[in-house]
Amino acid sequence: MLDQSKIDTLRTSVVPPQFHFIDGEATPGYSGEVIDVTSPIDGSVLTTLQEGSARDMDRAIASAKASFEDRRWAGKAPAERKKILHKIADLITRDALELTVLGVRDNGTEIGMALKAEAGSAAATFHYYAECTDKIYGEISPAADDVLALVHRQPVGVVGVIVPWNFPLMIGSWKLAPALAAGNSIVLKPAENASLTLLRIAALAIEAGLPEGVLNVVTGKGPIVGEAMGLSRDVDILAFTGSGGVGRQLLGYAARSNLKKCYLELGGKSPNVIFADAPDLSKAARVAAMGIFRNSGQVCIAGSRLLVEESIHDDFVAELCKQARKLKIGNPLSLETDVGAVNSERQLAQNLWHVDRALEQGAQCAMGGERILADTGGTYMASTVITGVQLDHDLAQQEVFGPVLAVSSFSDEADAVRQANGTVFGLAAGVWTSDLSRAHRMIGAIRAGLVHVNTYGGSDLTVPLGGHGQSGNGHDKSMHALDKYFDLKSAWIQL
Ligand code: NAD
Repeated sequence: MLDQSKIDTLRTSVVPPQFHFIDGEATPGYSGEVIDVTSPIDGSVLTTLQEGSARDMDRAIASAKASFEDRRWAGKAPAERKKILHKIADLITRDALELTVLGVRDNGTEIGMALKAEAGSAAATFHYYAECTDKIYGEISPAADDVLALVHRQPVGVVGVIVPWNFPLMIGSWKLAPALAAGNSIVLKPAENASLTLLRIAALAIEAGLPEGVLNVVTGKGPIVGEAMGLSRDVDILAFTGSGGVGRQLLGYAARSNLKKCYLELGGKSPNVIFADAPDLSKAARVAAMGIFRNSGQVCIAGSRLLVEESIHDDFVAELCKQARKLKIGNPLSLETDVGAVNSERQLAQNLWHVDRALEQGAQCAMGGERILADTGGTYMASTVITGVQLDHDLAQQEVFGPVLAVSSFSDEADAVRQANGTVFGLAAGVWTSDLSRAHRMIGAIRAGLVHVNTYGGSDLTVPLGGHGQSGNGHDKSMHALDKYFDLKSAWIQL
């Protein structure tokens, strides 16, 4: 059971890390420059981080490269690697509440969700890929009789990982755990406004027995340390989650350097399609509200476009607003809060700009649309429902990454598919219907990496997550995620 007094104690007692983590230890940057870490809860500066330079990044990459070349990790027996990855998971579980409180102060996610989706998910991810370590085989090819043709899976070398601020531990672990399971060494750049928990994970990994230099973390600004990582010729692949704009830049860095492979998990504008024959419209409204408003809409797969069949549109929107009004927005460290803070002033301003733009283009605000709780000093926004959104409106086409739901109506199944597929994205979708055949048709017709039916947001580690279209390439989670972190090598032996 979560206990408010424990959370309150940890809030003041946890000491945030402040340095890069390079070669197995907390390491100050060369320049001595720092950046403030501002808490979205109340706008206070909770600590400082190193403002990394390209030199810091190069030092971390050199450390990772040396650790890969002497095979201190890649050369360990898989069963030994498995033990250490399980131990990392155990240590995350041991420190789960502390990690969660630290992370919530940094990024503003409501604590109930953060405990499950951050520390809980990170521990589960390390356990999952620990188990994969000694279950991955090479192949013997069915070549000619006088030939033995083997297919080896080898770690790729130095993996550069760049992650966003919305679920740093969960998304970070989705990349770190399979990359380590495959025997690689890593340099990680967390987001400027959510670095603290990932710095902690690097220290826990050393405590668990991971050799020094195998996992390095460099903090700082994307266009400086992220660019240095992208341009490095000693980084063999990039595993990225974030916006399409930065994804494009990474492809450019790869083209200008060593043609490293870039695996990009990008944004979405995911449609949640409600047919009049949905089995339970009240449940659909409640789940659709949670599907956009949890973590203040800062969820890559958020159901940010609601497409409702014309005949039920008005009643459904009224029910959804009723459900949304029940969500208590406020201090994310309080157990009474359903929805926490928007991550930053910048993100909040961007959210509000999108609302203004939608109204300017002819849509209507059914609820919310404004900043709230400004007197706390924190960044909070009302759950916002915008109706009358047309497919060519910016709100239908651009990712907001905030608590702003764009509502449109559709006339029939073909119209629903046309609108669902009417953006450049293809991350996730939802379909609510009692008609099994229609559900299957919609799963086939909607361009998305994940289609939910009669729910929104369900998933676990066994199921891959990845985008179609401009929502990215490659997949996190499941056994499929491991493919990114191995190179295939064939051997042809003449007998
Ligand atoms: P962002 O693209 O602004 O930043 C992501 C990371 O890239 C950060 O660590 C940032 O410092 C770094 N970065 C910025 N500029 C860089 C540069 N020039 N070179 C190298 N690195 C650079 O994204 P964000 O605002 O942190 O996160 C929100 C975005 O992430 C949304 O688009 C969201 O949909 C997406 N996201 C996608 C998934 C998924 O699984 N597909 C999951 C979560 C978030």
